[in-house]
Amino acid sequence: MSVLALAGGVGGAKLAEGLAAILPPGELTVAVNTGDDFEHLGLRISPDIDTVLYTLSGLNNQAQGWGLEGETWNFMAALERLGGETWFRLGDRDMATHIERTRRLKSETLSEITADFARRLGITHTIIPVSDDPAPTMVATDEGLLAFQDYFVRLQCRPRVERLEFPRIADARMSPGLAAALSAPDLDLIVICPSNPFLSILPILSLPGMREALTNRRAPAIAVSPIIGGKAVKGPAAKIMTELGMDVSPVGVAEFYGALIDGFVIDDADSGLADAIEGPKFLVTNTLMLNAEDRRGLARDVVTFAREFALK
Ligand code: GDP
Ligand code: CA
Repeated sequence: MSVLALAGGVGGAKLAEGLAAILPPGELTVAVNTGDDFEHLGLRISPDIDTVLYTLSGLNNQAQGWGLEGETWNFMAALERLGGETWFRLGDRDMATHIERTRRLKSETLSEITADFARRLGITHTIIPVSDDPAPTMVATDEGLLAFQDYFVRLQCRPRVERLEFPRIADARMSPGLAAALSAPDLDLIVICPSNPFLSILPILSLPGMREALTNRRAPAIAVSPIIGGKAVKGPAAKIMTELGMDVSPVGVAEFYGALIDGFVIDDADSGLADAIEGPKFLVTNTLMLNAEDRRGLARDVVTFAREFALK
């Protein structure tokens, strides 16, 4: 079975890890948001790609939710002593990823580097950026237009979001791997992971040709709700939905994806809302991924659910 998963960082990586565990090597392509990518201390940082790489290779720090297990912070402490910028935390081991990526970007694409990092970390599935062209997310807020990491890390999502902007998206192309996966005749399933719909999935949907490709999909598309019981499991998804005047529930998320999806997966905690979801077929199951078994279980549920949709 050939599966394309669209993912952001932590929430996306959890389901991607489950899919990677249940699918035979090579059957999964994870296309990862690059709207959060930025340059910092002269280095190119790709936070969501790194979260997916570290999670699928088992190197991630599970408790913290980002970065590497067993990380040390000597670089950060030394930088602070010199009066350098410390609002964005970079661990000692993590630095190797950013330095090596930055060096290789002089002669290689982000796609090539990401695929090679994945292989070297022992990942047997394909991980690619959604685009090789920088198209950073900007957050329009009550405190002005903010670069994504200023909003997310420096201001810790405190400003009220008015809308998301992608000023460079018109010139960005889908990565070759994403374009190929979407048009592959043997694609069986598209999964929109339970990532933040606005910060992680909207930048992907905004790439030229992406909505058209999904609208004309031949394989079914299934999304998993990142909202459980009126709350985000982590991060500002619920806060942003409130600020945008949306219904903070899986119903709001389903409406946001609209006709781009055939199936929508919601948590047992929200079973009462299933009838309120118009459009997609829904599946009610456990979507809270607290451990590896939960991740595999949800991945299996999504794959089984996909069989309900006849190929178009
Ligand atoms: P980020 O880029 O690291 O912020 O990560 P994502 O955008 O991929 O994921 C953030 C979203 O994942 C949040 O909206 C969370 O509610 C959601 N999320 C995190 N863990 C889980 C989980 O175990 N189950 C579900 N359904 N959603 C989750
Ligand atoms: Ca992210």
